[in-house]
Amino acid sequence: MSIPGEGLAKGLAVTLKTMTRRSHTQQYPDVAPELPPRSRGVIALLAENCTVCMLCARECPDWCIYIDSHKEEVAVPGAARPRQRNVLDRFDIDFSLCMYCGICIEVCPFDALYWSPEFEYAEYDIRDLLHDKEHLGEWMATVPPPPAHDPNGEPAKEEAAARKAAAPPATDQPSSGPPNARRRPGSGSRTDEEPP
Ligand code: SF4
Ligand code: SF4
Repeated sequence: MSIPGEGLAKGLAVTLKTMTRRSHTQQYPDVAPELPPRSRGVIALLAENCTVCMLCARECPDWCIYIDSHKEEVAVPGAARPRQRNVLDRFDIDFSLCMYCGICIEVCPFDALYWSPEFEYAEYDIRDLLHDKEHLGEWMATVPPPPAHDPNGEPAKEEAAARKAAAPPATDQPSSGPPNARRRPGSGSRTDEEPP
């Protein structure tokens, strides 16, 4: 059996409890919000890294990446024929269609696309949300640096390969072994100690 006025008392109790709580409202735009550094705000392009492989444009579910390029011949000293390379003419992203899935950034094999936490690029005209190569390049200045490597983690395979390439070549000349070492016939680089 309910007591008359019980609901009203409960409602007032909730109101009083809420009134004494600290407010979490942020007065944007007077106060800038504290966003996580890896927030998905806008996509930045490092055009020097782009090889015009078209993977990002093909994988974009919204088809909002537009790329144009032309081929250029580059003379390579010592090569019989000049090499061909793609030159990026146009790289546009239409942010009025983009759904910020990040697929383009993940599939790019050459680290040409990055997330920037910058989000203040609203426009009065929707056509201005088409950002061209130069505009996308300007966002690179707002891309945060990558997180530091885990000191206990395994080194990246690129690092291991670079270290291996920089190491002096292993030599299997008899002169580099112990003074009394000799090659075992048919045993490649293995050496045996001379018996005393
Ligand atoms: S974030 Fe997604 S929707 Fe936006 S351009 Fe990249 S792939 Fe397309
Ligand atoms: S996937 Fe990367 S390298 Fe390939 S076209 Fe897109 S941005 Fe350029």
